[in-house]
Amino acid sequence: MNNKTIVILGGGVGGIVVANELRHKLPHEHKVVLVEKNTEHAFAPSFLWLMTGDRKADKITKPIRTLVRSGVEVIHAEVTGIDIPNRRITTTTQPLNFDYLIVALGAELAPELIPGLTASAFSFYTFEETKRLQQALDKFGGGNIALVVSALPYKCPGAPHEAAMLVADYFRRRGLKDNVNVHLYTPEPQPMPVAGPQLGEAVKHMLTSKGIVFHPLHKLISVDSQNHTLSFDGKELTRYDMLIAIPPHRGPQIVRDAGLTNEAGWVPVDRSTLKTKYENVYAIGDITAISIPGRWKPDVPMMLPKAGVFAHVQAEIVAHRIVDEVNDIVPKAEFCGAGYCMLEAGEDLAGFAFGDFFAEPSPRLELRNIGRAWHLGKVLFEQWWLSPFGIKKRILHAAITFGAKVLKIPVSV
Ligand SMILES: Cc1cc2nc3c(=O)[nH]c(=O)nc-3n(C[C@H](O)[C@H](O)[C@H](O)COP(=O)(O)OP(=O)(O)OC[C@H]3O[C@@H](n4cnc5c(N)ncnc54)[C@H](O)[C@@H]3O)c2cc1C
Repeated sequence: MNNKTIVILGGGVGGIVVANELRHKLPHEHKVVLVEKNTEHAFAPSFLWLMTGDRKADKITKPIRTLVRSGVEVIHAEVTGIDIPNRRITTTTQPLNFDYLIVALGAELAPELIPGLTASAFSFYTFEETKRLQQALDKFGGGNIALVVSALPYKCPGAPHEAAMLVADYFRRRGLKDNVNVHLYTPEPQPMPVAGPQLGEAVKHMLTSKGIVFHPLHKLISVDSQNHTLSFDGKELTRYDMLIAIPPHRGPQIVRDAGLTNEAGWVPVDRSTLKTKYENVYAIGDITAISIPGRWKPDVPMMLPKAGVFAHVQAEIVAHRIVDEVNDIVPKAEFCGAGYCMLEAGEDLAGFAFGDFFAEPSPRLELRNIGRAWHLGKVLFEQWWLSPFGIKKRILHAAITFGAKVLKIPVSV
């Protein structure tokens, strides 16, 4: 057995899980190298609680090294080039050769693609932006809040709906419910179209019960920050007092330059094995393009949503497959498209959607009744994710897997 070097690009959700799984299962003569530009990891699902002041900033970030098993070589550097024919990566600190490559660089945010957006919008899609938004919400005395999904695809299909409900709840708690109107605009025809019409109706009902006005089929063209107006394709100008936007997403430039992407800028992979078109090169998480059964417009095929839950399971599958290959065993692990989402609704309540995204003829999902247990499940997951390796992590892991078994839900941690 030759010693192998497995290089993982990106130490976010997918990168951290795949590095830990590989290190756990492979003898130490094989190298597991994780390249990540940031030294701190910020847990994105908690940005929603940071936005409403329910989390302190220092409670939702952790040094990446504490989240990674010892024996994983962590290189804090920016990846600057991917040379697949020569099996070589360039970074801002050193070049690296690989036998196996896992691309887990996530999605890049590109607010500059919509004129006026950068100058006028707050966002809860990055840690720094969310801190800024929290302060702005704190000072906001009343008026129309426009929460806008500015382009498709975007990560976490539940996030805009959760954010709208949490913002509405935040002003209810501050006694300003009657002064603030929350409007949610999206180019989609319904909430979470990938989940089907029934689940979409249920989410719409959750929104309206909180007084949120839902505006489907609104494609943002530009923002006039001086006059506080939004221009949507084919609609009248819309006034806002505060704009909160999910910026356009795109695949990182270096991945597009490496010839790994499709025309939309995402990396197509085999949906079961997560292999790219190149031998021993895998991609996982938000950077991938995985088509799934069904269409939400005749000419628009459905794609697997970009979500941490998928990045996490795909990371486990890829680790299994590489370990088997290194050990000369035919790999059998396959990604089966199961996923779930806890949908925060405010007042410490959440809904729970789960199902099979590969089901024919279209994804089959269920929404469990809104309740406190799902909210607590999300908090437990947050605590597990952010705790360093040790006894606390093992206890939380046992609690989550036990809870998932009792509730018969497909959770992988
Ligand atoms: C507000 C919000 C709430 C969310 N809530 C949920 C939720 O409840 N459930 C859920 O399943 N998902 C949720 N998500 C989505 C989830 O966070 C992402 O889908 C997940 O992080 C994707 O994992 P990834 O590994 O593909 O990418 P990421 O976690 O984004 O990791 C990519 C990593 O690559 C690094 N990187 C990028 N370029 C370079 C470079 N050139 N050199 C070195 N490093 C680089 C980045 O710094 C980053 O650490 C949420 C997202 C947001 C924004």
